[in-house]
Order: sequence, then C-alpha cells, then structure tokens
Amino acid sequence: MVTLEERFEHLEKTIRGYNISADLKLVEAAYSYAREHHGAQLRRDGTPYITHPIQVAQIVAEMRLDSESILAALLHDCIEDTDSTYEDIAKRFGVTVADIVDGVTKLTRVKYSTMEEEQMENLRKMLFAMSRDIRVILIKIADRLHNMRTMEYQTPVKQKKKAFETMEIYAPIAHRLGMQKIKWELEDLSLKYLDPVAYDDIAQKLEIAKSEHGQFMSAVTAAVNARMTEQGIPNATVYGRVKHPYSIYRKMYAQEKTMEEVYDLFAFRVLVDTVPDCYNVLGVIHDLYKPILGRFKDYIATPKPNMYQSLHTTVIGDEGIPFEVQIRTYDMHAIAEYGVAAHWKYKQGIKKQGGEGTYEWIRRLLENQEDADAEDFIHSLKVDMFSDEVFVFTPRGDVVNLPAGSTPIDFAYSIHSAIGNTMVGAKVNGRMVGFDYQLHNGDVVEINTSKAAHGPSRDWMSIAKSSEARSKIRQWFKRERREENIAQGRTSFESELKHAGLTIGQVTAADVLPSVLKRVGFQSLDELYAAIGYGGYTALKAVNRIRDELLQISRAAAVEKAAQEAAARAAQEGRPTPQKSKSEKGLIVEGLSNCLVKFSKCCTPVPGDKVVGFITRGYGVSVHRRDCPNADPRRRTPADQGRWIKVTWSDDVYESYSTTLEVVCKDRNNLLVDVSTALSSCKVSVTSLNSHITADGFAIFHVAISVSDTTQLEQVMRKIHQISGVMKVSRPAG
Ligand code: MN
Repeated sequence: MVTLEERFEHLEKTIRGYNISADLKLVEAAYSYAREHHGAQLRRDGTPYITHPIQVAQIVAEMRLDSESILAALLHDCIEDTDSTYEDIAKRFGVTVADIVDGVTKLTRVKYSTMEEEQMENLRKMLFAMSRDIRVILIKIADRLHNMRTMEYQTPVKQKKKAFETMEIYAPIAHRLGMQKIKWELEDLSLKYLDPVAYDDIAQKLEIAKSEHGQFMSAVTAAVNARMTEQGIPNATVYGRVKHPYSIYRKMYAQEKTMEEVYDLFAFRVLVDTVPDCYNVLGVIHDLYKPILGRFKDYIATPKPNMYQSLHTTVIGDEGIPFEVQIRTYDMHAIAEYGVAAHWKYKQGIKKQGGEGTYEWIRRLLENQEDADAEDFIHSLKVDMFSDEVFVFTPRGDVVNLPAGSTPIDFAYSIHSAIGNTMVGAKVNGRMVGFDYQLHNGDVVEINTSKAAHGPSRDWMSIAKSSEARSKIRQWFKRERREENIAQGRTSFESELKHAGLTIGQVTAADVLPSVLKRVGFQSLDELYAAIGYGGYTALKAVNRIRDELLQISRAAAVEKAAQEAAARAAQEGRPTPQKSKSEKGLIVEGLSNCLVKFSKCCTPVPGDKVVGFITRGYGVSVHRRDCPNADPRRRTPADQGRWIKVTWSDDVYESYSTTLEVVCKDRNNLLVDVSTALSSCKVSVTSLNSHITADGFAIFHVAISVSDTTQLEQVMRKIHQISGVMKVSRPAG
C-alpha cells in the first residue's frame, strides 16, 4: 500500500526532475487545499479521493507540463465535487489556474449519451472548442487515463461506457496531439473492457510467451549494442518491446489472423544523440539483419502529420522472426511519447502572448497534418479557436453544430422546421431560457413544442443567427400563414388604392380584372394579397401598375366610343366617316379623336412649333417639338416606333400655352426687376421663375410663361434679349 505522503513525495520529485524553478510551496498548498476540500470522500476502491488528483498531477508532471498545469491538476475536481469555487481558487492560486480548473470542470460535465459513429468527430471537435487553453485538454486526458487505470472498481455498465468514450474520443485526441504513449495505454485499457475475451486471450498468450519473447529481445538488443560500440556510435540506448495488445488486436482483425500469424509482434527502439547517428544505426541494423523490401520509412526526412519523426525498418531476425526497428534521437523520442505536451516546454521559453497568438504554435503543429481527415479537423480547430461555431447537445446527446451566437430558435430549426414552428419554450441545461438566449459550448438544449403553438413570430427573424432558421421562418410565413397574409395584404393594398383615388370595385370589375392580374403577374387577387402580406411584393408597386392598366383601358374605351359616335353621326348626316378628329387643345391627332393630349415638359411646344405625338401607356398622347431630343427619330426604340404619330396644330383658338425659357446673363443688381418688367410689357403671365448663380458669376433664369403661339413667344424672347447683361435666351428641350 502506497501512502499519500509517498505519492506526493514522488510527485514533487518528478516535478523537481524537470522544472527546478517550480514553486513547490504552491504545489503543496494546492495539495492541502484539495485534500481538505475532498475531505472524507472516497474512491470506489476505498482509497481517499485525494489519491486521484495526486495521480493526475503525476501524469501531468510526466508530460513535463508547467507549474500552473500541476496546480490545476491537483485542483481539477474541486469545483465539481466540493464546495470550492472558481473565485476561491482564483484568489489563492491565480486566475490562470482557476480558468484551467474551470475548463476541466466544463469538459467533465459534458455527457456523452450517444455513441453514433458520425457524432464522434463532432464530440472531439467540441472538446477542443471548449478547451480555450490546450492545458485543459491535456489535464482532461491525464484525468481520463487515471480513471481508466482504476476502472476495475466501477460497475460493468460504467466500465463499458467509459471504455467506449475513451476509445472513440480520448485516444484519437491523444493521437492527434502526438501523444503516442498515452494513446496506447488508453487503447489497451479500453480494449480490456470492450472485448475482455480477446484482451485476456492476447494478454495470456503474451504472458505465456513472455520469457521466450524476453530471450529473443535481449539477444537482438545485445547484438545491436555490440555492433554499435564497434562502429563508435556514442550514447545509444536500445530496447525491445512486444507491441501493445490493442495494436495486435487490430492486426488480427484487419488481417483475419490468429495472434501466432500476426506478422510483427516485436518492436525495437534505438535512441541516439544526432540525426547522422540515426542513419548510421540504420546501416548497422541492415548489415546485421535482412531488411524486408518496402518496409523502410524515413519519417525524419518527412515527419508524420503529428510531427512524429523516426526511421522505421522491418528486418528478419536470425530465427526467421520479423521485427520492426525504430531509430530516432532523444528529442524526437520525447515528442513521439508526449506530443503537444512535449512542445509545451518550448512554448514556455517563448514570451507569453495574448489572444490568438497563444494558439499559434499548436495551430502550426496541427497544420502540418496532411491527411484529409486531419485537414477537416484542423479546419474545425481553427474555427473553434476563432470561435465562430458553437457545439450543443440535444437531450438525446447528439451534438449540434451551430454558428456562434446561435439561440434556441436556431437550434430548434436545425433539428427540424416542425420543431421550430411549434416551439413554445426552451430549456438550457434544465432551466427555462428566453428565445434570445445565446447558446454556449456543451449546453444541453431542450425545445418545448405545442400543437397549439401560434408558430414563429416575425421578430424571430432578427433573433435567429443561422440563415437556415431564417429561411425556414420565412417559408412558414409564406405557406402556413396564407390567410393572415391575405388579410394583411388586402388591407395594405386597399389603403394604397385609396391613396391613388381608386376603389376596389374598379379593380375587380369583370371586364378589367383579367388584364389587371396579368399586369401584376398573379393568378388571383388572393395570391397578390398573400405576396404583399409576406413581403414578396409591395402594395405601392401593385397599385401603380394597376392604375396604369386601368387608365389605358378607359382611354382605349373612350377612343373607341368617340369613334363609334362620330361614325354614327356621320351616317345620320349622310357624310363619310371623318378620318381626322376634331381638335383637342388646338391639336389634331391623326386617326384619334377625343384623346387626352398633354404637352411634354421637356420641350413645352406652342402653336407654330413643328410637333410630333407619342401615344403613352395610359396617359394619352404626349406632344413634343420635332427638335426635342426626346423626339429624335434616331433615339426611338423599335418597340415604340408604332407609338409615334403625326400631330398638327388646328385653327381652333386655344387661349394660352405654357412654355419655358432659359435666360443666361451676367449677374447684376436689379436684373430680376428688369426681366419681370420686360415680361409684363409683353402681356404674358409668368407661372414660375427660378434663378441660380453659377460659380463664375452668371445668372441663369428658368421662366415659365403662357403664350398664344410662336409669334408671341419670339417677341418675348427678343424683348428679354434687349435687357442689358443678357447673353442668351433659349427654349430648353430634352
Ligand atoms: Mn478527475
């Protein structure tokens, strides 16, 4: 029976062995603090609980981690299992140690209730995502290793469950972090509970052959040692081992072989000081034993993705027994055994960096991993380090991966739109939360649904973080809330209609409805309303188009009616049907009578101007001066070509026509008064007068006046031209 004191002394000795500057007083303080808080708690094997934290700290010390990691390892179960708090630990041992303990506690609280294959990678990623500090995951691995070592006292159910988790989650993480030694031990311990029959079989056969294996290994070791001494290779260490049970087990399964048939059971290691020595040793081995072709691998020239470096070769021994030899330097060996943890000590030499920089070295390490699987992993790791993803659990234990900042709404819709649409409440870790609650890594999220739910509310759109949830909510409003959308759409449509001075009756009249619907592109009014209701179409747009359509229809009807009347009258009076219409605003529009005529604003024609007409869509005929750029035949589009029609002035007297003049002059006092006087002397009324001064001191007037024809207009223009300072008088167009 090893006493607590002995265990602790051993720990101190291990720490002193690699870290002379470690504050052992603080280590002792952490030990007493943990012992005091765990008090009378016992482990299942009957030992005081404190043996566990000591042993975890021991494993952490064997990984050669820093002092903060040792303290955190000793304290790692305090927050979870005792009345100790984060604040208390932070006060006594510093915020960093408290943060690490807190991180380990959070990982401990993660419950893996599903063990489906496709969930495993997510779970591994989640552990990384939750470990803001790599030391958290290293301590968690040490914790798991010690628990696996002492698993025999647990119930068979728990043994299987923990063994599975270890095999599927912790061993792969140890592998990814390059911690070969710990990975093997985790695998062997897991196999013991997962397939006890096979494990016992392998272990038994290894036990039986132990002395035979031992003899073989010492013979090889002696031969290699002798030759290396001969060759003058200094400071070399050679040892042999039988491969670990899980590795033999896997080979048996993969190759469908019995243990006796498994190819290479033995592995030898030669450790030397330098890389050239490695290649010298390789020469020695190949000289002593016959190498198997194709089995040599140079991981020194090309390191493995997890930074593993070594020379591997398989040779055939004197008795025809094949064995593998791994040759590497002592430094390479430390990395092979402890991986990332071995790098920790290099990191300690580097000045502490804050934020992302802290992870730079581990990212670089992981970026060296080249296989596709690892690439995926690195991607996720990078993402996690920059925290734009969050991993949460369903009550069943499935991991759901969401964008950071996601809420229960995002979670619900990621499970199924039906869950989101009937959601009435959400629980996180057993507590009710608001729909805008931000999910954290490891949260267990439960959604309460009800058949009587009203469905999503419109503000969910702004709460949801994922585009998936938002698009599903939009879908719902489009589909499920058709009635409401129609009602809402109709209300806004009718009010917009009222604004435009139209009534619903004008729109729904049987003779216009089909062309109205065609104009807006909907099959029915309900469909139009529904689209307005969920925001796919605006009421204003619909009303504008419908008004255009109605105007065009009524104009066409009026033209048709007038033509019919004229024809009827002509028939009554025994005259031929008139081809020319009567004048409208003093204009004759070819082929059309009674049509609405307006003068275009761009060129404001007056009688005497050469003019041309354009049949607009719904606003009658617009009349332009022939010299207006907008009427230039070269600018007409083929589609509109047919709309240009001949227009002439009639002899009918029409009182006055509005037109615009542009006057450019040198700015001076009383200029405006002079212009006004000139205009009133010509007896024209001014409807508007704007002026502005240009940067170079010119005044530009735009004068809108009413005149009877071009003769009067030309008189006005001459008059204005005579005013002192006026440089140009023109009729704007275009
Ligand atoms: Mn623990």
